[in-house]
Amino acid sequence: MKYIGAHVSAEQGVSNAPLKAHLIGAKSFAIFTRNPSRWTSKAITAKEAEAFKVNCAEYGYTPDVILPHDSFLINLGSPDKEKLEKSRVAFLDELRRCEQLGLTMLNFHPGSHLKEIETDACLDLIAESINLALDKTRGVKAVIENTAGQGSNLGCTFEQLAHIIDKVEDKSRVGVCIDTCHAYTSGYDMVSEEAYNRTWDDFDRVVGMKYLCGMHLNDTMKALGSRVDRHASLFTGHLDEGFWRRLMNDPRMNNMPLILETPNEEIWAEEIKRLYAMID
Ligand SMILES: [Zn+2]
Ligand SMILES: [Zn+2]
Repeated sequence: MKYIGAHVSAEQGVSNAPLKAHLIGAKSFAIFTRNPSRWTSKAITAKEAEAFKVNCAEYGYTPDVILPHDSFLINLGSPDKEKLEKSRVAFLDELRRCEQLGLTMLNFHPGSHLKEIETDACLDLIAESINLALDKTRGVKAVIENTAGQGSNLGCTFEQLAHIIDKVEDKSRVGVCIDTCHAYTSGYDMVSEEAYNRTWDDFDRVVGMKYLCGMHLNDTMKALGSRVDRHASLFTGHLDEGFWRRLMNDPRMNNMPLILETPNEEIWAEEIKRLYAMID
């Protein structure tokens, strides 16, 4: 079964997110559990956490189809000691919020070397950051998102994702989220049937399909290998109908959150419907 949803707003409180997802016909959803562009955020009250759990149960969302996303400011591979420490504190807080909400996954962008340290050293720092945070928490998986490779963002090759996973001590608590826009613009073609199969074979060989915990479903305005991250509404960019049809009928993406982060939220309900209609 496919669990297609979207990244809904939690601005009026996380407890409202399940209803928002339900109203657009989403079978999964993503949220920010704190303001993604601020370093500090108010704690979630016990009442709010309870209301979130009640509402998730009411609308049928189990933790395995909810994929919270961490703050954009966090850089777990920062070459700057102070910023690294700040990022680690914030990342731990993100994981603890997930724990509090009864959630089991946290999706995050690995980090950037800012051209100040080598790629491998940065990947090692990221893995160390993950180990430190996992050590202090329970039950929440760190789900690394592949990136478009814009600027000095790491995680844009399957090898880099594998490097991080390799250095994470508890393999049962690390996973990967593949963003279709990021994969394509970082150079992984998936448009023809042959390219689709090649990319997923590559992923399986280098990272391992068992690590795939979720996906971000975005079309892309920018070309293959451009390393620019510009999401587009489905069927308006480079990823054609054939690609989405193949993805929707691929059993390897069953039973995991498949999250739209497309720019026009007014048409999310329609996009979800169109994707479901493609399933044979
Ligand atoms: Zn994404
Ligand atoms: Zn993106």
